[in-house]
Amino acid sequence: MALKPTPKATLALSGISFAVAVALYWPESEPVTVPLITPEPIEIPRRAPVQAQVQSDPQIIDEAEQIATELALALQREAEEAEERARLEAEALAALPLTERPAQLEYSVNVGDTLSGIFSRFGINQRQMYQVLEADYAYLALDTLMPGNRLRFWVDEAANRLEQLEVEFDMAHRVVFSRHQESFEVEEIILEGDWLASSSEVAIHGSFSQAASRAGVRSAEVQQITDLFKDKLDFRRQLRAGDTVRVLRESQSIDGVATGKHRLLAVEFEGRNWLQSAYLHNDGSYYDEDGQSLARAFMRHPFSRDHRISSRFNPNRLHPVTGRVSPHNGTDYAAATGTPILAAGDGVVGRVEDHPIAGKYVVLEHGGQYRTRYLHMSRIDVRRGQSVTRGQQIGAVGATGRVTGAHLHYEFHINGRAVDSLNARIPMATAVADSDKQSFLAQVYQYQSQMTDLIAQSQARPEPEPDNSSYGE
Ligand SMILES: [Zn+2]
Repeated sequence: MALKPTPKATLALSGISFAVAVALYWPESEPVTVPLITPEPIEIPRRAPVQAQVQSDPQIIDEAEQIATELALALQREAEEAEERARLEAEALAALPLTERPAQLEYSVNVGDTLSGIFSRFGINQRQMYQVLEADYAYLALDTLMPGNRLRFWVDEAANRLEQLEVEFDMAHRVVFSRHQESFEVEEIILEGDWLASSSEVAIHGSFSQAASRAGVRSAEVQQITDLFKDKLDFRRQLRAGDTVRVLRESQSIDGVATGKHRLLAVEFEGRNWLQSAYLHNDGSYYDEDGQSLARAFMRHPFSRDHRISSRFNPNRLHPVTGRVSPHNGTDYAAATGTPILAAGDGVVGRVEDHPIAGKYVVLEHGGQYRTRYLHMSRIDVRRGQSVTRGQQIGAVGATGRVTGAHLHYEFHINGRAVDSLNARIPMATAVADSDKQSFLAQVYQYQSQMTDLIAQSQARPEPEPDNSSYGE
């Protein structure tokens, strides 16, 4: 800022001139003094406000006006540029294939909705719905829709044709159906996300479940622990006041947002002179500290005798007609209609359905990690929610749904993913293999030190509120 003389400064300067003038007229014999005026008064006015002068200075007004005009022009240019960018983006978007643009329709599933109801609401006809269901044979994802799940539709409005459907079960799990001529290709997207470990220590007073829920252990976690130890621990008789349980689990998040999914890594019950433990191994099964399996072994085949395998698990199978990848997520057994189908392991009937392609089918849940599916049944002998034991008959082989002949399509899932039931490391063995023992024991050691650290940390914090969020898959 340029310093302009102010009225006061001007006055002070004329004061100096006056003093100098007075001095000039003073007789030479007398000592010359400069009374009144000192340099200080010049300094003070320089700090005084300059507004008055600015307002009345035409040069300053010009400058301010110029700046204001330039600012207005810059803002206008920016707005025009933003408009142009938006126009170009819209053009680029319009040039993209339909399915790469944002979905035109999005729907959140409500209680009481049916798939055909949702499809017809968006004007997608039955024929197209069946094309989607046909592709869904690989996952049967649409049978598991729950309120709150989101459906996204990409529709070629001119042709009245569904081009793509995305089902979002949660942030970590989506299934996408994409049209290829008269059929759909299906892709299941499961994000691993980040898993953050946490640990709780529960002191037993009263029942295990009461003590656990008081300590903030989730009810689904309590259920899983109870299932896990059902053959090893008598919860009613063995546990005494003062016994403790230590739990190590991981919770999933995607981009820092919790998905509500958790998995148990380790559980240790400690009594006065006993220890019962369960550690998750890299095969998805739980073993105790000696490497002995906690789960009862599964049967490799869900039959009482051998049947010919007519088609094996093949994630890269090509569809015979379209030539596109159409995964075969199970093992097909050629068996006559009426052949008894047995539960491959202990579990609970999670689902009993009748599907246009998969036919009559049953889903069994076997604890946190495992699930089996039995398709094309002629008859179902169990109901949803029922407990079954390994080897129990759940129904019979048939040819329901879209099949060329009677057979059982059998699927084995670990953590929500189909695996080859003939080769997967499913809990068939009752102990960790010798070749695996070292890595198992190293893992157990890591779980234990992680638990110790986390429990020490959490004892410095208040206990979390219990919740009922989902567990595993
Ligand atoms: Zn099959």
